[in-house]
Amino acid sequence: MSEAPVEADDAFAGVAGQPQLVAQLRAASFAPVHAYLLVGPAGAGTAAAAVAFAAALLCPAAGCGTCRDCRLALAGGHPDAVTFAPEGAFLRIADAEEIIRVAVRSPIEGRRKVLVLADFHRVQRVGPALLKTIEEPPESTVFVVLADNVPPELVTIASRCVRIDVAPVPAPTLMALLVAEGVEETRAATAATAAGGNLDRARLLVSDSGLDRRRRAWAGVPESLDGSGAAVAVVAAELLELVEEAAGPLRRAHAEELAELEARVASTGERGSGRGRLEASQRRALRRHRTDELRFGLATLAGRYREALVRPGADPGPVLTGLDAITAASVALTRNPNETLLLQALLLRLPRLSTP
Ligand SMILES: [Zn+2]
Repeated sequence: MSEAPVEADDAFAGVAGQPQLVAQLRAASFAPVHAYLLVGPAGAGTAAAAVAFAAALLCPAAGCGTCRDCRLALAGGHPDAVTFAPEGAFLRIADAEEIIRVAVRSPIEGRRKVLVLADFHRVQRVGPALLKTIEEPPESTVFVVLADNVPPELVTIASRCVRIDVAPVPAPTLMALLVAEGVEETRAATAATAAGGNLDRARLLVSDSGLDRRRRAWAGVPESLDGSGAAVAVVAAELLELVEEAAGPLRRAHAEELAELEARVASTGERGSGRGRLEASQRRALRRHRTDELRFGLATLAGRYREALVRPGADPGPVLTGLDAITAASVALTRNPNETLLLQALLLRLPRLSTP
C-alpha cells in the first residue's frame, strides 16, 4: 500500500478540525444506508462534511477529490447532489413537497442521488409529512440530514437515520487553523476562545473589533442586576443592541457578496442570477449569527456564576439556580424564541453578584 499523503486529492480535505467525523463518513461512503443525521453546528463542520460526503457517495472511487463527480459535488454543482435549506424560520409544507419530489426521482447522471437537508432542527410541523420518504427512499437515494440539535419534532425522523454527533472543534485546533490561514496569534487565540467550537464563527470574529466589549458587557451583567424588573429591561435591551451591532462584519461581507453577484450579472448579462437564493442564504447566516452571539453571551455569563461558586463563603443555592436558568435559555435559543422575552425572563432569575 502506498504511504503517500492523500489530503490534497481527497473529497474530505475541506472538512477542517474533525478527523473523527471524516473517518466515520469515509467508512460509511463504501456501503451507505438510506439516511444519516449529522448533529452539531454547521460552522463546526457539519455543512462541509455533508458536501464532502455527497462527493464521496457519487464518486466512483469513494471520494478521490479530483474526478468530475467530486469536483462538481464539492463546488455545489452536481445534479445528483441536492441541498435543501429552509428559506424561512421554519420548514413549510411546500419545502417538504419539494424534498419528496426530488427524493423519488431517479439520479440524473449516476447510480445515486444525495439529498442534503440543512437546518433540520427547524423542521417543526412538516416532520410527519417527510417521515415516510426519509425512512424508505428509493434505493438510489441517500439522505444527509443536518441539525444543530434534535428538538422533539425531529426525534422520529432521527430514529430512522444513522446519527453522528459532531463535536465542537476544540479551541486549540481552531486557533491552529486560523494561524495557518495567516491570522496573528493573539488575535487567533481570542477568536478561537469565543467561537464556541465553530470555525465559521472563529473566522468572522478575527475581524471583529467589538468582541472584547461584548464579552465585558455580558460578564458585567451580574453586577447590574438589583432584583428589579426595570434593571432587567435596561440590561436586556443593551445586550440585544450589542448582538445587533455584532452582525456588522457579517452584513458587510454580505453586501460585498451581493455586489460581486451584481457585477457579474452586469458584465455577463446573466439572467436568473441566483440573487434570491443568495439573499435567502444570507438571511439564514444572519439568524445563525444572532443565535451564536447570544450563546456566546450566555456562556460568558455562565462563566461568571461558575467563578462565584468556588469563592469562599459563597451560598451555592441561588448561583446553581442561575446556572440552570442560563442552560435552559441556551437550549431555548434553538427554537427561534422572542429574544427580548427570553433574556428578560432569564435575568429575573439570576442572582446579583458583587465584583470579585
Ligand atoms: Zn472522485
